[in-house]
Amino acid sequence: MPLPLPRLFDYRATAPTGPQDIGRRVRVPFGPRELVGVVASTDAPQDDSPELREILDWLDDGPLLSGELLASLRWLARYTHAPLGEVLATALPAALRRGEPVPDTHAWAWRLTEAGATGLAGLRNGSKPRRLASVLQAGERDEDGLDDALDDWRAAARALLKRGYAERIAVPASQLVPAPLAGPVPNQEQQAAIIALREAVGFAPMLLDGVTGSGKTEVYLHAIADCLARGKQALVLVPEIGLTPQLLQRFRTRLGVPIHVSHSGLNDGERARTWAAAWRGEARVIVGTRSAVFTPLPDGGLVVVDEEHDGSYKQQDGIRYHARDFALVRGKALGIPVLLGSATPSLETLHNAASARYGYLRLSQRAGDARPPAVRVVDVRKRPLDAGLSAQMRDAIRSALDAGGQVLVFKNRRGYAPVLLCHDCGWSAQCPRCDSPMTVHAHGRRLQCHHCGHRKPSPPACPDCASLALQPQGNGTERIEAMLAEQFTDVPVLRIDRGSTQRKDALETLLGELGASPGILVGTQMLAKGHDLPNLTLVCVVGIDEGLFSADFRSHEKLAQLLIQVAGRAGRAQRAGEVLLQTHHPEHPLLATLIEGGYHAFAEAELPLREAAGFPPFAHLALLRAEAKHADPPMAFLQAARRAVHDASDRVDINGPMPAPMPRRAGMHRAQLALSAATRRDLHHALDHAVPALHALPESRKVRWSLDVDPLDL
Ligand code: ADP
Ligand code: ZN
Ligand code: ZN
Repeated sequence: MPLPLPRLFDYRATAPTGPQDIGRRVRVPFGPRELVGVVASTDAPQDDSPELREILDWLDDGPLLSGELLASLRWLARYTHAPLGEVLATALPAALRRGEPVPDTHAWAWRLTEAGATGLAGLRNGSKPRRLASVLQAGERDEDGLDDALDDWRAAARALLKRGYAERIAVPASQLVPAPLAGPVPNQEQQAAIIALREAVGFAPMLLDGVTGSGKTEVYLHAIADCLARGKQALVLVPEIGLTPQLLQRFRTRLGVPIHVSHSGLNDGERARTWAAAWRGEARVIVGTRSAVFTPLPDGGLVVVDEEHDGSYKQQDGIRYHARDFALVRGKALGIPVLLGSATPSLETLHNAASARYGYLRLSQRAGDARPPAVRVVDVRKRPLDAGLSAQMRDAIRSALDAGGQVLVFKNRRGYAPVLLCHDCGWSAQCPRCDSPMTVHAHGRRLQCHHCGHRKPSPPACPDCASLALQPQGNGTERIEAMLAEQFTDVPVLRIDRGSTQRKDALETLLGELGASPGILVGTQMLAKGHDLPNLTLVCVVGIDEGLFSADFRSHEKLAQLLIQVAGRAGRAQRAGEVLLQTHHPEHPLLATLIEGGYHAFAEAELPLREAAGFPPFAHLALLRAEAKHADPPMAFLQAARRAVHDASDRVDINGPMPAPMPRRAGMHRAQLALSAATRRDLHHALDHAVPALHALPESRKVRWSLDVDPLDL
């Protein structure tokens, strides 16, 4: 059942059942309601009490979840220590979870019946039915084909149907796609990677480590083509922002098969259709974001995870799975290669490659003629700044524009300014529901909380001292955009962040309008990947200094990845690119290492620090979170949880309970308990024993709690 309860529920079936029924959906009574569940077992319940309620309805003729996928999902439930019912519900598209039928993925075609084949001559010569019958005599035709062949064929088809001369049949959806175009000839490194994948036997996890623009996508395309040639399905996972029309277009023109997509921009029906097409084995290439990792693959032959380091692969509520990690589990169960691609692999993946658990494929050069960008640090200590940009930065923008190039200004904070401050008394605008300042928007007119969404107009005067000296402090993308628009009046200035691109396709439209002409893009990390910008010659990075000193153990890794990814946007085509990094800490070791040695030098320096501090990939973490309207219940629950974990194992370090990094959010008081173990086994052994005890704790009823195995941060 799709419920957060750690157990299965027994129902009586009205007809005999067996293992073949496992994975079928049923509609069952649950309290006063009806719910859709999935059959997990057909064993007789331990106590066959007569009160068992009856299954109301079997929704499908056969199982929706079976074989490898069902087995992998059972594994996921054990690994996340989450109820199986919730995991299975998470894996199904919303429409199927609600009990809707598996959607049609068929097209319709017409063919002559035997009576039609013999009776054809009896139809009046030159009549529409006769002409349609003659067309069908050559073989069945799908309706799209008939639209092209014959005007007004539908009336004729009805006439033939009525006489029993023709029938309408379901056929696989049109496989008509343009003939595949050839791509560039792979270079030596690409060729080596393609061959390694071609020759892989069984489960073969491989890291494709290649700088931005080195031709990783080309390797994916060849590997997918090989997979198709073996008659197998390929699943490609991409980060939320990576799934651009450009990427899909490239897949469509190169592979010669329909590309099925799955992402959050689709409606429930569209997502269910992609799922169903894969389930029936009709979809041969599926490209999707995080939840596409649950796509059924009856003929699975390859899984690709693009930008494997990307944080959007981790589900942050409900069942907290990591799509990359689950892709590896599925690859193992299917016995197939799993290709993890990135210019900035996660330290976990690099560690696995270094210890030979994963194969290692390297693309060290940019493909084609593109050269790597030159990176320069701009020291802004004691320099005057305008909306956070130094004069040197603004001069560089001018030169790049004058040379006909495009400029990207990266600032990872949207809005106008992060804080509204009273210059006279020091008051600042705080969110009433969160422990966080409210961000200033709309040039100072509006305040908005980026954590709970709370909005209100800016106060006309300081609520504490009535002073009118309220000043937005710091800079967000809106303020930088305003400054640039004022100073660079001859070119368009486009802002790209979650605020400006809420509408579907807004980003593509904005960038499409800009084309290749000179202009400035201002934006957050949404700009770090996705859409190709061949005319981009200058990347300006401002306001990264907070990331240098964050307490989060992954903050340096995230910052390094972001800097490399943003820098990688420059100079992707013939034009050389330049990256300017503005900071108050030009000597910070992270920046020095990154600039001198690149991402790998950073990773080599960072891994020993992680090991010394007992963080992943050298330790295994779980985070127990709790929240409630009042401050005490979460702490009380976590204290009890601490004892439960302690009783379960002495091989787990327990840290806390302590307040969450943001102790109050959307009106809820939040606390957490961090668990850490030297081995995955030790961690799971403790959780196996402790989690059932947590469900039974009386304190658990006064809080909302959740367990996050392998949390991205603490
Ligand atoms: P990545 O996925 O690593 O960013 P892409 O596969 O998108 O790299 O390649 C970057 C650009 O280089 C694309 O325009 C692509 O067509 C081109 N490219 C890739 N491989 C080659 C090659 N072997 N020869 C010439 N151009 C190539
Ligand atoms: Zn004041
Ligand atoms: Zn808030």
